[in-house]
Amino acid sequence: MHWMDCMATKKHSCSRSMPWWSKETVAVVTGANKGIGFALVRRLAELGLTVVLTARDGRKGMEAVELLRREGLSVAFCRLDISDPPSIAVFVSWLRKEFGGLDILVNNAAVSFNEIDSNSVDHAETVIQTNFFGPKLLIEALLPLFRRSTATSRILNVSSQLGLLNKVRNSALRELLQDEEKLSEDKIKQMVLQFLSQVKDGTWKEEGWPKVWTDYAVSKLALNAYSRWLAKQQEGRGLSVNCFCPGFTRTAMTRGQGSRTADEAAEVGAMLALLPLDKLPTGKFFKWSTPILYSKL
Ligand code: NDP
Repeated sequence: MHWMDCMATKKHSCSRSMPWWSKETVAVVTGANKGIGFALVRRLAELGLTVVLTARDGRKGMEAVELLRREGLSVAFCRLDISDPPSIAVFVSWLRKEFGGLDILVNNAAVSFNEIDSNSVDHAETVIQTNFFGPKLLIEALLPLFRRSTATSRILNVSSQLGLLNKVRNSALRELLQDEEKLSEDKIKQMVLQFLSQVKDGTWKEEGWPKVWTDYAVSKLALNAYSRWLAKQQEGRGLSVNCFCPGFTRTAMTRGQGSRTADEAAEVGAMLALLPLDKLPTGKFFKWSTPILYSKL
């Protein structure tokens, strides 16, 4: 059985081409009390990994864990609010103590305050803090804990095609983000701070930012750019960094609208997080299961 077929079965029992992961493989998923994150935890646990379900609300997190336990799945739980640096610090020391490290991080947690057909930037600061600075701070804190040895460790950032470069109408900004050599962590940070300052003084509409769900799109634009930058930094160091857009999925974020279920999105997300070493890229944006090279957009 091929490894892809292994993934299609609930519990893998493959005689040939065994999956690279095992119960020793530790995967952490953020924002996993509901939606795509919850479905991802379930899928990874079904496939036999040790999975840490995290949620910012302890009660909601434990309820999600209980739900999985009733399905016969055992997952670990720790509270984690990615927009709160002390919460990240507590989580990281808990993870170190409980598991000694990790192999897979799925940065799934995010917020959006937009309705499907509206475009408000009233919560821009929270959106940027949660969707960009949150994953970035968590990654920085977890970098020393990735095992990198048995198989390449992986970061999968759940992102959105709303934050692709082709949505940016400001040509100077697009050039900055496309310049592989000059792009830096600091330039990405400056970009989001500039956006927030334009939101404050009311000039953001004229500046060529993405038109749809602008604050959310800017947060994902920054996450995509940071992922690509980080992938380059980590090249040859046993850590791959990719982004995944699940497409329009029926969750709380879309008020239940969408063309697919969270389980369907999680099936593809888990497949990408578990790509075998010879098929594992880095610095890619996966639109569903198709890898796109940012710089060609
Ligand atoms: P949901 O709103 O259903 O789930 C979001 C999850 O993130 C919730 O568990 C939420 O917790 C959690 N969360 C929010 N803020 C924080 C925080 N500060 N710390 C920890 N957890 C937090 O959305 P989806 O499942 O749809 O979204 C999952 C990912 O998929 C997101 O990254 C989203 O941007 C992306 N995506 C979704 C699409 C879609 O169509 N649904 C399309 C493209 C991308 P709580 O319950 O406490 O609010």
